[in-house]
Amino acid sequence: MSEKDDFIVFGAPSIGEEEIQEVEATLRSGWLGTGPKVAKFEKEFAAYKGLPANQSAAVNSCTAALHVSMIAADLKPGDEVITTAMTFCATINSIIHAGLTPVLADIDINTLNISPSSIEEKITPKTRAILLVHFAGRPCEMGAIMALADKHSLIVIEDCAHAIETEYKGKPAGTFGDFGCFSFYVTKNLATGEGGMVLAKNKEKLSRVKRLALHGMTKDAWHRFGDEGYKHYQVVECGFKYNMMDIQAALGIHQLARVEHNWEKRQAIWNRYQDAFKDLPITLPAEVETEHRHAYHLYTVLVDETNTNIGRDQFLEAMTKKNIGIGVHYLSIPEHPYYQSTYGWKPEDTPNSTLIGRSTVSLPLSPGLNDNEIKRIIASVQNLLG
Ligand SMILES: *Cc1c(COP(=O)(O)O)cnc(C)c1O
Repeated sequence: MSEKDDFIVFGAPSIGEEEIQEVEATLRSGWLGTGPKVAKFEKEFAAYKGLPANQSAAVNSCTAALHVSMIAADLKPGDEVITTAMTFCATINSIIHAGLTPVLADIDINTLNISPSSIEEKITPKTRAILLVHFAGRPCEMGAIMALADKHSLIVIEDCAHAIETEYKGKPAGTFGDFGCFSFYVTKNLATGEGGMVLAKNKEKLSRVKRLALHGMTKDAWHRFGDEGYKHYQVVECGFKYNMMDIQAALGIHQLARVEHNWEKRQAIWNRYQDAFKDLPITLPAEVETEHRHAYHLYTVLVDETNTNIGRDQFLEAMTKKNIGIGVHYLSIPEHPYYQSTYGWKPEDTPNSTLIGRSTVSLPLSPGLNDNEIKRIIASVQNLLG
C-alpha cells in the first residue's frame, strides 16, 4: 500500500456507508460468527443467480469453496481434473489439496479461456472432472464444454472468482456445472474482505459442502447457540474451518445490492479503454459477444516488445512510477517452480497460456475510479506505448 495520496490502488473495493453501518450493527449485536446475516446473504446471492435459497453455501474464500466442492464431488485420490494453465494458483492448489491430480489444458488465445479442443486432448481413462475459470469475467464456451462433460461423464466445477455477473447465452455462470465457486476477496467484483460461495446443483452435495466447511459437524453454531434450545452436534467426517462470519456477510449483503450498479461503472471504463487504446500497438481484449455477458472483472492488454518501445515488465515498472497500480493475471501455471518440480510441467507445453502470461497487463478497473483517474491512466498508457 502506497502512502502517496495520488496512488491509484489496483482493485480497490467500493465500500459504501451501508456496509459500514451494517458491520457496526453486527458488532453491536454481539453475534459476529456464522449467523442470520450469513443466511440472508446466501439466500440473496442464490436469488441473484436465479436459484432457490437451498442451493448456496457461504464459505470464507473461493479457495475453500473449490476445495470442499472437489471433496463433495466424491472423487478418488489419483483421479484427474483438467483445468486451465492460465489461472490463479488457488485453482490448482485446491485440486492438489483434495488429493486429486491436476492436468493442464491450454487456452484460446483470443478469449483467454480454457479451450474445449485442448480439454478433449487431455482426457484419459482417469479423467473425472473439468475445473474451468471464466477468465476476466468472460464466459467459457459452456456449450462445447458441457457436451464434452456429458460424453465422458465428467463432473464440472466452475471457478467463478471473476464471474459474478457473467452469463453464457442468458444463463448465469456457476449454474452450468455441478458446482460454482465464487470469491469475495478484496479485489473481486463483490468484496467482503475474504469470502466465498458455493452453488451446487444437488441438495445432498450442498449439505456435504456446508458440513465440510464446519468441521464435519451435523449442526452449525447458529443452531447450537441460538434460541431454539440446545442441540447436540455430531462429527460425521473430518471437515475444515471454512465458514463465513456475519461480519463478512454484513458487507456482502450491501455489496450484492450494488453489484449491478458497479458492473455498469466498470463496463463504462472498459469501453473507454477500448476506444482510447484502439490505435496503440498493443493487443486489446476481444470485444464481448452480444449473446453473452462479461463481468468486466479485469481489463487486460498484451504488451509485445517487438511492437512497442518497452517490454511488458518495463511497462509495469513505468506505470507504478506514475503512481498507477497495475496487475499481472497471470504468469502461466507452469512458470512456477513448485509445479515444474512436482508435475514436470513446462511452459512450452501450454504455449498460448505462456505467451499471454509473459505479455499481459491488467489496468485498474475499480468502480470507484473517478474521471480524473481514468484520464490519468489513459494518458499514461498512451504516453508509454504510443
Ligand atoms: C481470486 C481467485 C481465486 C481465489 O479466491 P479466494 O477467495 O482469494 O480464495 C481462485 N481462482 C481465481 C481465478 C481467482 O482469481
